[in-house]
Amino acid sequence: MFFDIDNDLRDIEKAVREFCEKEFDLEYLQRLEDEHRFPKEVYEKIGELGFIGVGFSEDIGGSGYGAMGHVIAVKEMCRSLPGMGMALSLGYIPAFVIDIYGSERQREKYIRPMIEGRYVSAISVTEPDSGSDIGSMKTRIEERGDHFVLNGSKLFTTNAGYADFYTLLARDDNGLTALVIDTELKEKNRPGAFEITDLGRKMGINTTTSGELVFSDFVIPKENILGKRGKGMRTVLDGFELGRIVIAAQAFGAMLYGYEKAVNHAKKRKQFGRPIIKFQSIEHDLVDMYVEIEKCRGILYRAAWLYDRKDPESKKYSSVVKLTIPETAISILNRCIDMFGGYGYMRDQGLEGALRDVRITSIYEGTSKIQKNTISKLLY
Ligand SMILES: Cc1cc2nc3c(=O)[nH]c(=O)nc-3n(C[C@H](O)[C@H](O)[C@H](O)COP(=O)(O)OP(=O)(O)OC[C@H]3O[C@@H](n4cnc5c(N)ncnc54)[C@H](O)[C@@H]3O)c2cc1C
Repeated sequence: MFFDIDNDLRDIEKAVREFCEKEFDLEYLQRLEDEHRFPKEVYEKIGELGFIGVGFSEDIGGSGYGAMGHVIAVKEMCRSLPGMGMALSLGYIPAFVIDIYGSERQREKYIRPMIEGRYVSAISVTEPDSGSDIGSMKTRIEERGDHFVLNGSKLFTTNAGYADFYTLLARDDNGLTALVIDTELKEKNRPGAFEITDLGRKMGINTTTSGELVFSDFVIPKENILGKRGKGMRTVLDGFELGRIVIAAQAFGAMLYGYEKAVNHAKKRKQFGRPIIKFQSIEHDLVDMYVEIEKCRGILYRAAWLYDRKDPESKKYSSVVKLTIPETAISILNRCIDMFGGYGYMRDQGLEGALRDVRITSIYEGTSKIQKNTISKLLY
């Protein structure tokens, strides 16, 4: 058994870190948040540098490092600046379903340009009356000759409005089916067949949109089906298996961001004539955080390792990390704010923003309670 990442991944980790140190800037992120704008120019750069592609396979332009590659790149981006790392990785996490189930043509059309940083992806599963209970969704496809007609609405789609392509889940009498649609198809349809409304500002990740999509008689060619017709639930859940590990990596990077800032602050900040790290309760708080971080690192790397080996345990483990790491990140960032005292509450320190950003990691792609349901189903 090998308990560390190999030298190639170490080099990639270092390259991502150096890039982020140079390019990520808190003031710039906050300006984007205020303007509610996705950092497309940085996304293009990480595409050009190969950081989006680290985990994708070589046949489609990636570097072939699998889940472990995604984890290392996303962890490092979020460690540098959680809001930026999360927004950038949310440009490609939604496309895992297409990478896994897409035909050669679909992967060439969507995954390759996305890896190069030219395309942003989205996935639309949630509906107004169907969130955790995916199976109850109402959006329908109806077969008409060589195409389908789509009617219904989707809620909370990340990147809605500027995504170049969307994975959708819809139902007919065969069950649920996954499909891919793109902006080209939107333009070919009649006006009003696919309407997008941005839901506006939210608690965190404000450089991304969360949108409502409404379809009325939207025409989709049959070749846009992903995977098998009627097997859409499996198709999407297989994408989520990897997505959940990478979301855990977002949260893991965010806890490192908070912890490293807290250590630095505790060494510098003096009260009662000494650096606050000299108070044992502060020092012990930091040790507690360190130990929790190391536990998270262990299970995160194990989850990626199991996924890359196609081990049947991976399904359970992806839920284990999606449950544990976001909850730990939220708790650690909250404690880091305490360690900064009043300064931690202020926007210019970056910690309150990181806490607001990371809060979503325990909700999207299945809430913590849904992860517990999955784990218990697989255990007992
Ligand atoms: C910022 C943001 C981005 C998002 N991005 C996307 C996206 O890109 N694509 C997309 O499709 N969706 C997206 N979502 C939607 C997200 O995945 C859902 O919000 C989430 O799955 C929960 O669904 P819900 O909001 O309908 O809550 P509900 O399902 O109504 O859940 C409400 C509460 O009940 C609990 N609960 C529900 N069922 C059970 C159960 N069986 N056992 C125990 N507890 C249960 C939940 O844990 C939760 O605490 C996003 C949401 C947000 C806020």
